[in-house]
Amino acid sequence: MLHGLMMDYPLTLSTIVEHANRMTPRKTIKTKLPHGGWHEYSYADFCGRVRRLGNVLERLGVAPGDRVATFAWNNYQHLECYFSIPGAGAVIHTLNIRLSQEQLKFIIDHAEDKVIIVDGSLLPLIKPIADQLKTVEHFVVFNHDDSQPIDLPNLSFYEDLMAAAGADYEWRCADENMALGLCYTSGTTGMPKGVLYSHRSMMLHTLGVLQAAALGPTEADVVLPVVPQFHAMAWGLPYACAWVGATIIMPGPHLQPEPLAQMIESERVSIAAGVPTIWNGLYHELRQNPRDISSITQLVVGGSAMPRGLIEAYERDLHVNVVHAWGMTELSPIGSVAKLQTQHQALDAAGRWDIKAKQGYFVPGVDARIIGEDGSELPWDGATMGELQVRGYWVAGQYFKLEDDPDHFTDDGWFRTGDVVTIDANGYMTITDRTKDLVKSGGEWISSVDLENMLMSHPDVREAAVIAIADETWGERPLAVLVPLEGDCDEAALNAWLLQHFPKFWLPDRYVTVADIPKTGVGKMDKKLLRQWVADGEWG
Ligand code: AMP
Repeated sequence: MLHGLMMDYPLTLSTIVEHANRMTPRKTIKTKLPHGGWHEYSYADFCGRVRRLGNVLERLGVAPGDRVATFAWNNYQHLECYFSIPGAGAVIHTLNIRLSQEQLKFIIDHAEDKVIIVDGSLLPLIKPIADQLKTVEHFVVFNHDDSQPIDLPNLSFYEDLMAAAGADYEWRCADENMALGLCYTSGTTGMPKGVLYSHRSMMLHTLGVLQAAALGPTEADVVLPVVPQFHAMAWGLPYACAWVGATIIMPGPHLQPEPLAQMIESERVSIAAGVPTIWNGLYHELRQNPRDISSITQLVVGGSAMPRGLIEAYERDLHVNVVHAWGMTELSPIGSVAKLQTQHQALDAAGRWDIKAKQGYFVPGVDARIIGEDGSELPWDGATMGELQVRGYWVAGQYFKLEDDPDHFTDDGWFRTGDVVTIDANGYMTITDRTKDLVKSGGEWISSVDLENMLMSHPDVREAAVIAIADETWGERPLAVLVPLEGDCDEAALNAWLLQHFPKFWLPDRYVTVADIPKTGVGKMDKKLLRQWVADGEWG
């Protein structure tokens, strides 16, 4: 074999910081502060502080391979952690601030975190378990309220440590196979599982995100990651934005529709990324209080299915280009994107929305196949449903501390996503359900996602979740949990609406109304909790 003769240049994260410092030092990163107002600094300042924080970590005794957790909103200090912790050869473990104390304790112990860097406003959430954590040696706090005493063991203050640290720094991440980050899956089923990214996988993922075929941010973009930094590395946007020098707008704790609308308008945001719940809220806000959001070129949405009705509403009423993407923590997370291609040029608006409501084509770097219940590979015909399996440069090969796991990884090198999908002849994937959320009625599958999307396209419905309830005759039947837009929904009208698209046996046996559908820590509908409510007799 004749080997290529190119440099063996490691795929390590320090490359991004050095590049940003050199190429776009004057571009800016802005954070909306908790009590209003902005913090703004240049990439040059940011890169300087990233190096300083590297020295801070070394002084705290953080060694390569150690896990350093963050417990924070999206802000500039959290962004510094994103680069400094891996730059020091350690592993950034982004803790989800919305988990229960029990889940947090489990994850911190499981990850064996040595240091936790905490946003001052979130101290009340971590304090009750602080004494019980087995491996944590230091708490480091930023953005704290000076007037309040903080009662935490081994506490130091981020800005004090930074002020005392030197500016010169030598990166400690020479090997591209070193671990870089640790993210636990949101745990909609079972206990959370850890996904351990490497520098190599994350750098390749970053190049993947930068492809025009994926999200493709450029220097000219102003990017607002509404998706939390603790949800699958904010979908890779911090790394991708820094590499090209895009302006970054960090929303801090201001995730409500009104401040988001204001931020998009005042900062002329071009790419904003978040889960459907966020964009659902923003849409209704903008209908009531219109603002100029014409700067948006891509409203990126993923994490759960974006209902076709909401895509249509954004595009028709607000002229916003919606980019629907599918991903998973296990995929770092980008898997597929539903952008239009040449073949779609002749489509009318309704045809284009049909395509955009799919989860889309697999981005270069991710391979996919569909597997049936008998283990055979299924055709890409847009109709045959089976489990989606993927492999690629940034796909997990196993969970942290969990070997021999045939439920999630196949012998021939594929990751079992647990998503049930169809893929059409053009490679566009549609998620029908999670394997665990499908409703099996009389031996036939009913897609809860399809029902939800259609219900949410009805003008009287704000949100809908469909779950299976036990049924003596059919095994399982669908129950629809609705949040009406106003007043009550008319069941007969909803059934008539659904019957235009689905067979009669798909109609929910029951509709119940709630004020809000409970959400998981990353903003997905919490069907586990809804099932628990059913088991507890909530609806008789
Ligand atoms: P997480 O790792 O928490 O982001 O969860 C990943 C799961 O979220 C996937 O396996 C899907 O079930 C779901 N998901 C992510 N993006 C989408 C999407 N665009 N449409 C439907 N489901 C999605």
